[in-house]
Amino acid sequence: MKTSGRVLAAKVNSIKEEALFAVRSDNLPIWCPGCGYFGIHQGLNQAIQQLGLPRHEVVVVSGIGCAGRYPFFSNTYGLHTVHGRTLPVATGVKLANPKLTVFAVGGDGDGLAIGGGHLPHIARRNFDVNYLLFDNSIYGLTKGQPSPSSPTGFKTKASPSGSFEAPLNASLLALAHGASFVARLFAGDPNGIADALMEGIRHPGYAIFHLLSTCLTFDKQFKTWENLKKWVHPLSANYDPTDYKAAMAHVLEDDFSTGILYRRDG
Ligand code: SF4
Ligand code: MG
Repeated sequence: MKTSGRVLAAKVNSIKEEALFAVRSDNLPIWCPGCGYFGIHQGLNQAIQQLGLPRHEVVVVSGIGCAGRYPFFSNTYGLHTVHGRTLPVATGVKLANPKLTVFAVGGDGDGLAIGGGHLPHIARRNFDVNYLLFDNSIYGLTKGQPSPSSPTGFKTKASPSGSFEAPLNASLLALAHGASFVARLFAGDPNGIADALMEGIRHPGYAIFHLLSTCLTFDKQFKTWENLKKWVHPLSANYDPTDYKAAMAHVLEDDFSTGILYRRDG
């Protein structure tokens, strides 16, 4: 066997031993090869597995977009719902059966545009849903239009002269809405995602995970892997996630720090 074949066989064996496929469905994700969403998928699978959550007590609710396909790739209960309505549906699921661990999953278009009106209300109710906002700053499924988190001047086929709108910052919005748990994470760091998810899942209230990701197929200028790897950095060791005002000031200054930005107990 050639070296590359041996490396692959060893990797497959280690995956089997760690049972990393236990939470995956038999449908392998059909995202573009190299899409950031694979890292998020791995992080969430890992968190569910490490916490030992029974799969029949986990529900993943998605909207529309590339992230909307998520429930097909998870061996848990799942609902692929309508555009921008992940949070109300997830709220209904949790209300109907509070024993369930509920994840709402969606992209920046789904969550910040058509679904943006739901963001303040789930935060102020502090409702115990875990929201994973996949933020690649582009509409990927519809082949690359600027989204609410695209930077001003962002050029796509749909905005050849550059987008003229100012971007929304999902972490800043979550803090402004009073979310009791806010984490910002990098799709290229599945272990970091898993660690923060485990903490957020245990948090007794609303938890939002702002996931910096890439759409390598349609974005060649902003959130590329190359740029994200340069820009993303962990929060400093002396950062205090319980200090709300400091969290707001930090997020206003820094768009790419990762870790738990804010946590409020009670
Ligand atoms: Fe990922 Fe973009 Fe492909 Fe969608 S279009 S799967 S976001 S790389
Ligand atoms: Mg997007």
